[in-house]
Amino acid sequence: MDIKLFQLQSLTREEFLDQQNLGHFKSAIVPIGSIEQHLNHLSMSMDIDMSRFIAEKAAEELYPNVLITSPVTFGIAEHHMYFPGTVSAKPGSFLSSIFDVLESLLRHGVKKILLLNGHGGNISPINGIFEQWKLNLIATQNSSIELFNKKVINNHSEYIDAVLDNEKNEIDIRFNSYWDFIPEQMINSILETKEYPGHAGEFETSLALYALPNIVRLDKLQSSNEIGIQKSSSDKGKKLAIKSINGVVNSINEMLFSNKNQNL
Ligand SMILES: [Zn+2]
Repeated sequence: MDIKLFQLQSLTREEFLDQQNLGHFKSAIVPIGSIEQHLNHLSMSMDIDMSRFIAEKAAEELYPNVLITSPVTFGIAEHHMYFPGTVSAKPGSFLSSIFDVLESLLRHGVKKILLLNGHGGNISPINGIFEQWKLNLIATQNSSIELFNKKVINNHSEYIDAVLDNEKNEIDIRFNSYWDFIPEQMINSILETKEYPGHAGEFETSLALYALPNIVRLDKLQSSNEIGIQKSSSDKGKKLAIKSINGVVNSINEMLFSNKNQNL
């Protein structure tokens, strides 16, 4: 399938509106990654390319229910800055731009959103702010919640409960790394090193060999002494990628078709 069909930035405003009027594109995936060194055998785009790959394959299966936004390419990679070429976003600017993407989607009526991450360094900063984002966005972007007219809220805890557990809330925002959808037991049975996501080791290299062969430098891979790199294979990557894609599909379906507001 042509990925332009579900890439937000590839649509015209008329095409987007037509799809919305048909009841399509009620959910979105925002791929998030990093541009950082991945040793000598994978290009710096590994993390964002992998989250995009998983998002695109899931969107293909879910078409026309899910959009993919343009990727949030740069991530928090200060810990890789010793290596030339790495580009690191500051936590403040990184988090602000993701919040702005969420708010923009919600203002256009896309209420089910999965932030799909491909870089370990982004996890703690997003987790640290995620509840604040949900409180703000559910309270300000969900017109069916009339919290501020009610006099039954006596303290901030009751306010948090009233927002996050509100049965009229239609907003469901989730944050996952693509490997969250692969059970640990399965990863341990596939990977000889048992290390994931790791950094350019057996896990990522296997995924790249399967999904992103253009970013792999085969000569460097073959001459590497690193055990994880030597143990990597496209077959392993295929099993891991398929499980992750299925997990993303299930998560979006749950957001779209289940009444329960999970992860709030
Ligand atoms: Zn990586």
